[in-house]
Amino acid sequence: MHVMLHRLEVSDFPSIIRARLETLQVNLSYRCNQACLHCHVNASPQRKEMMDRETVGQVIAFLRHGEIKNLDLTGGAPELHPEFRHLVKAARALGIHVIDRCNLTILEEPGQEDLADFLAENRVEIAASLPCYLEENVERQRGQGVFATSIRALKRLNVLGYGAPDSGLALNLVFNPQGPVLPPPQAALEETYRRELKVRHDIVFNRLFTITNMPIHRFGSTLVSKGQFHAYMMLLREAHRDENLEQVMCRRLVSVDWRGYVYDCDFNQMLGLPMGGGSKPRTHLADLLQRDLEGQPITVADHCYGCTAGGGSGCGGALS
Ligand code: SF4
Ligand code: SF4
Repeated sequence: MHVMLHRLEVSDFPSIIRARLETLQVNLSYRCNQACLHCHVNASPQRKEMMDRETVGQVIAFLRHGEIKNLDLTGGAPELHPEFRHLVKAARALGIHVIDRCNLTILEEPGQEDLADFLAENRVEIAASLPCYLEENVERQRGQGVFATSIRALKRLNVLGYGAPDSGLALNLVFNPQGPVLPPPQAALEETYRRELKVRHDIVFNRLFTITNMPIHRFGSTLVSKGQFHAYMMLLREAHRDENLEQVMCRRLVSVDWRGYVYDCDFNQMLGLPMGGGSKPRTHLADLLQRDLEGQPITVADHCYGCTAGGGSGCGGALS
């Protein structure tokens, strides 16, 4: 695996500052039941990193503080964390909207048989990876058998009301390109997904989010190995649009790692780029309780062009 940070650190990406905090994105664990090629987390069944109970308690204490509107749970597969359901319930009791970044196949893992019901009962929004509506493309990126399992999972979620208009159970799909290219326009692709999933599998969903592959970790390392890294960076830089800077997710989000340290986004977390810049000591979530982040500078590097290229990219899909 190639180290990516030194290839990205020296950057002319424009300075950006924080707006009002709205979302706490918590990476509960790097463990996952899958090991996808594009994964920017390097997640896999072999990873052991997992947030401890005390840190989960600090997350809940931060939520009680009152500023956060959205709790975005990610990983790995966040549902594999033993405190996942406790955390969801605690957030919901505080009236906080919860998003589960779900890989769909987790719904069929042993011990997760009641997961779909739990998510529906707690009105959890699901953001589910589905890189294509065609089996061959999904399996190339995510592994054999993943497509059929994902389709079964989506059907099950539909039965529970997920994806139906006015059910209040949001089922959003996440697309990322297969290789070193930008995602196509989100609205047009969403319509294609809607038509194809309905006709082929009788599946409904709410929104499709297109996300640009970040040149970090497994995907970034593969680019380096194939000699495609510089061409991909050039593609991102040339497609940069200043108007996306207002909407990049780090302006309103804090990302927390499994040890409780905070970052401006999940990508910076994966690169080990702490909030406040690489030369400062790492900040812990517990230290943020007394701090107002609005107006603070965001730590940027060349990978940030992945957020501002073309239609822009963030956890909620295209920006513009
Ligand atoms: S399902 Fe998601 S977290 Fe798991 S390996 Fe694939 S991309 Fe990474
Ligand atoms: S990579 Fe992170 S810090 Fe950079 S623009 Fe995107 S969200 Fe912001």
